[in-house]
Amino acid sequence: MSGTPRIYFDNNATTRVAPAVVEAMLPYLTEQWGNPSSPYQHGRVLVQPIDAAREKVAALIHADTQAVVFTSCGTESINTAINSALLTQPGKRHCITTAVEHSATLKCCEALVRRGYEVTILPVETDGSLDLKELECAIRPDTAIVSTLWANNETGVLFPVEEIAAICRKHHVLYHIDAVQTPGKLDIDVETLGVDFLSLSAHKLNGPKGIGLLYVKPHTPFWPHLLGGQQEQGRRGGTENVPYIIAFGKAAELAMQITPAKRSKLAALRDRLESGLLQRIEGSTRNGNAAHRLPNTTNLAFVGVESEAVLMLLDQLGICVSSGSACTTGSAAPSHVLTAMGLNAVQARGSLRFSLGFESTEAEVDYVLEQLPAIIETLRIAASPRKYAVK
Ligand code: PLP
Repeated sequence: MSGTPRIYFDNNATTRVAPAVVEAMLPYLTEQWGNPSSPYQHGRVLVQPIDAAREKVAALIHADTQAVVFTSCGTESINTAINSALLTQPGKRHCITTAVEHSATLKCCEALVRRGYEVTILPVETDGSLDLKELECAIRPDTAIVSTLWANNETGVLFPVEEIAAICRKHHVLYHIDAVQTPGKLDIDVETLGVDFLSLSAHKLNGPKGIGLLYVKPHTPFWPHLLGGQQEQGRRGGTENVPYIIAFGKAAELAMQITPAKRSKLAALRDRLESGLLQRIEGSTRNGNAAHRLPNTTNLAFVGVESEAVLMLLDQLGICVSSGSACTTGSAAPSHVLTAMGLNAVQARGSLRFSLGFESTEAEVDYVLEQLPAIIETLRIAASPRKYAVK
């Protein structure tokens, strides 16, 4: 069994479950294991802790508690929002999304096309940003929903979600935000955003995998994705995952304690890593807009190497980074996000994502700065000895 990695710079894939989160959920696995829908005490006592957890996650996004639906993950939340928008507006058979979305959105949209719906997939600029005029032009009388990321999981690039929400309101189109990468790193206020649906997943904010939420703006017509019992006020069938709901509540409470100073420190650490690598490694470039992005993410291209080989060598040193979304790792195709930004296959295949966490340190950054240049050089020489041979 392998232990904790020495250096974990892959926090966009998942985060470590915080000890306080484990502590909060444990009693609900060991002693309080009842079913909250049962009529007797052993079950009924669970209603209050679930309500308390719902209040905490609602506070994280500044929502009314009634607007929060617990789901099994971000993927379920996204699928629920998009399908609900179509099923509650049967006359509308068109959706809009972007080319750089997480596979949860893109695969959901592909399935819709197979079922006879129409989907417009908006391109992005070379810096990963979106042309809002193009988005507005794509809206049609039969558009049911626009669904976009807030923060891209591969590049960290942020979309101007408040402006997109305003465009959608103007055209009476529902708007869903995939905000899975944002908690703790950005302030989330669903009122200010003016959004109809918003998805989160606990494992990106030091909670466990397998629990997410969907915010549904009050009075928005809603169609449940999972039909069954009356849990979640009839909006999601299935016995509540009590320990994970409690854990999500605790994780939300911790995320709310992250101050702007902590975010700035994280951004400074990311910048130290990014500028250090760009300086030390010839021919390296940053992928994505530097100004509008998450404070923890940098995506860099090192032409002349295969990122999978770099990952393996870094892994041997106990360093975890990634070559894109964890959900598409193992696929031979270059990242759809980077290719949508205009990178060719060689550039995309030579790109790495570094996503730091609030517990990352300067010493860890400096160790990567020390190790990675030599790894890239070795791999470049192995791949093209004539081009990269030592001068
Ligand atoms: N959306 C984004 C931006 C993500 O990064 C992820 C997970 O990597 C998801 C959605 C899917 O979330 P989950 O793993 O909880 O299904």
